[in-house]
Amino acid sequence: MPLELGSKFNILQGSPHDLQAPPALGSVHLDSVQHWVPSRYNVRATAEDGRLVLWNTLSGKITVFKTDDREMVLALLKKKGFEAPKEKVVKYLAERGYMVRQGVDEFRKFQHRFGEQHYRTDALELILMPSEDCNFRCTYCYEDFARGTMLPEVRESIKNLVRKRIPKLNRLDVSWFGGEPLYGWEALEDLAPFCVEIAREHDVPFFTHMTTNGFLLSPEIADKLFSWNIKSFQITLDGLPEHHDHSRVARDGSPTFERIFDNLKALASRDERFSVALRVNFDHANADGLSRFVDLLATEFKDDSRYSLDLHAVGRLGGENDAELDICGGDTADRIRQDILEQARRQGLHFKSLRDVARMSSKVCYAARPYNYLIGATGKVMKCTVVLDKEDHNVVGRITPEGDLELDTDRMALWTEPAFEQDSQCRKCVVLPTCQGISCPLVRIEEDTQPCISTRKNPKGELLAILESPGVPERRVAVAAGSRSRSATQAV
Ligand code: SF4
Ligand code: SF4
Repeated sequence: MPLELGSKFNILQGSPHDLQAPPALGSVHLDSVQHWVPSRYNVRATAEDGRLVLWNTLSGKITVFKTDDREMVLALLKKKGFEAPKEKVVKYLAERGYMVRQGVDEFRKFQHRFGEQHYRTDALELILMPSEDCNFRCTYCYEDFARGTMLPEVRESIKNLVRKRIPKLNRLDVSWFGGEPLYGWEALEDLAPFCVEIAREHDVPFFTHMTTNGFLLSPEIADKLFSWNIKSFQITLDGLPEHHDHSRVARDGSPTFERIFDNLKALASRDERFSVALRVNFDHANADGLSRFVDLLATEFKDDSRYSLDLHAVGRLGGENDAELDICGGDTADRIRQDILEQARRQGLHFKSLRDVARMSSKVCYAARPYNYLIGATGKVMKCTVVLDKEDHNVVGRITPEGDLELDTDRMALWTEPAFEQDSQCRKCVVLPTCQGISCPLVRIEEDTQPCISTRKNPKGELLAILESPGVPERRVAVAAGSRSRSATQAV
């Protein structure tokens, strides 16, 4: 059929569609009536006082609805859905991810976001071991302390790696780990100022954190660390002195509680912002004293949001004393943790709740991220900080003097592959965006099973716990419903 366009232009050099006016932007039915259905990634729970807590694990949003609004919201979230324009309360629910247009494939949406996050090339996360040795010999420790301070040539290799990568980075993240990182002061003093300076020169957002036993964290050392931007710590206290000094002894057998506690109190007297996750490892041996320990913590750190309590059941992780450990099993450990956190809340101590980890990928282990590398004192590149170099499959490569990472692709894939793709249970799971089936790749590798997070077992309980936990203050938002305005309490 003749197109009759030959006189206007050469059809071989331009498209006839270009002669038509372009469609107006925004005319793609955004305001028209659509069919809405609830998101497959909603988790909801009703509190005793009738408030409704709603969490969407894909958007990471949490809303606490007032009792009066609960029935209206639940009616809108019925499975069969409803027709409405995207306005007022529908707009609010849709923008927070609680409702989607019928036909939207949220699993594919998750896959797309996963790909964007997981395979990003503009981020570099390094976990560095300034020393593989430690000034402690904790009874449950899994490390073998076979090497000391990070070698000078390895430090140069790391600097070369960062120099090479920094021009293309939008994020640099350096965590200090060990052994005990402060025990390798010479290496820390070499690398930490270098990292902060090069990030500043290139205007790259820089995040840094230290896992330390706290013994060497005197006020003078804290001054140095703060000057290198190291203001985020994980420090372990295993209960009252009689318990802590039993499990966390110095390498010469002497007690350590008093000095760590003094260092923590000195930190608390500073004016700056910083954060300390107070990790408490518990088993049957110290569980009975945890309540009195919380009393002690409350005398020093009550209402200080810079400190947060972080309780963990001791596990058998491959240390030489594993057989003697009196560990608590799953349900017992959960009950102890809940009781102690409830007491901590009453006494004004802070701890992390689901509210702090509601966002997508928050439960994914760093070992699962392709851009995260653990570098040991002799230049081995590893993934899991528990396995270290005890198993060959965790040693994924080495760093060259030029700062290149020579990696074994098969071993890297073992830790970083998107395991949920082949796992029908994960593909159906409501907390998939948070856990991604890779909260602990080690469980998959060693036990060939899903490393399910506690939230999957008790989603409602954890969701309701945010109503009780201290932390970010709640704020009010207006949600227009029909002609009258309603209010919801937005928790995140
Ligand atoms: S793989 Fe598992 S054991 Fe290893 S660091 Fe990650 S969460 Fe911990
Ligand atoms: S590992 Fe368990 S909790 Fe995690 S996504 Fe898979 S099924 Fe869900």
